[in-house]
Amino acid sequence: MTAIATLGSHCALQVLKGAKDEGLKTILVCERKRERLYRRFSFIDELILVDSFTEILEQKHQSILEQNNAVLIPHGTLIAQMSSEQIESIKTPIFGNKWILRWESDRTMKEKLMREARLPVPKPVLHSKDIDKLVIVKRQGAAGGKGYFLAANQEDYNKKREQLISQGIISKEETLYIQEYAAGVLAYLQFFYSPLKEELEFFGADQRHESDIEGLARIPSEQQLKNTKVPSFNVIGNSPIVLRESLLDEVYTMGENFVEASKRIVSPGMNGPFCIEGVYDENAKFTSFEFSARIVAGTNIYMDGSPYYSLLFNEPMSMGKRIAREIKTAKGTNQLDKITT
Ligand code: ATP
Repeated sequence: MTAIATLGSHCALQVLKGAKDEGLKTILVCERKRERLYRRFSFIDELILVDSFTEILEQKHQSILEQNNAVLIPHGTLIAQMSSEQIESIKTPIFGNKWILRWESDRTMKEKLMREARLPVPKPVLHSKDIDKLVIVKRQGAAGGKGYFLAANQEDYNKKREQLISQGIISKEETLYIQEYAAGVLAYLQFFYSPLKEELEFFGADQRHESDIEGLARIPSEQQLKNTKVPSFNVIGNSPIVLRESLLDEVYTMGENFVEASKRIVSPGMNGPFCIEGVYDENAKFTSFEFSARIVAGTNIYMDGSPYYSLLFNEPMSMGKRIAREIKTAKGTNQLDKITT
């Protein structure tokens, strides 16, 4: 029997519920402090309790996963809490392509892959002295928007950077990534690529709610001007967005270009769930500032199936269940090596 394992955070509930619905065993690597939360859900068969997620690299935990023929589903927490080297050294088969996760974590590699996929990306600004229009300043890796800030010129940049350093939010040594700010309607486009069917599926779209930048929009400009705190882009939750149907063709093209580029650059390519994140401007032109090469937490809003998947499947299909279905199909046809790394 195959088991599905994941880390207790991000989208673990959705992933394990989907696996259970598909009749697979479910294992959660759970920090002791969250044990009470996850014990509430009966679809979790087994908990591997740890103090820190990096403990899953230890032989005793790897053995449990091996005995259960587990496939590990990577998500944002794995990337945020482990280095690329650590992730690549995990012996348990990882769903999708673990090598592409490095391309997600490193800003320069990320930009390279996005350009290869012909995604319209915002211009990077190489040095703070070159800031001559509104930019967003980001940290490396999947920081979830924490410690990000906007700046209009070098002086503004230095002032805000100093403030975040003094608050201990970023470190002095940290290399920050500066990118032109793209204004518009946020849309995070969620896809699934099946190497078994060689088909791309569009699952849905979401918007992120980020604090405290969103809170700022709720107060009058008079108070905004008096606010000296650097607002952050810390993700608090997600909500659904359904796109104008006329945008869908381009959405599929972007997804397909990304899959094709990944195949060329980082074998075996972009298998499984991924997300292209960006904004639509006033002319409905999409600019993409980010991709995630694994399931995103925004898919949690469609635990009972998404509008677009209701067009493809005649049953409620979450992203977690879709992953489990792919694993079951691969297992049944002896193709697990095609969908894991
Ligand atoms: P995660 O890994 O959780 O996706 P991250 O740390 O890689 O997050 P981004 O997704 O790149 O961060 O950015 C966080 C947020 O900052 C976005 O959700 C968006 O609101 C805003 N943002 C990022 N880049 C831009 C940009 N170029 N223009 C406008 N807004 C942006």
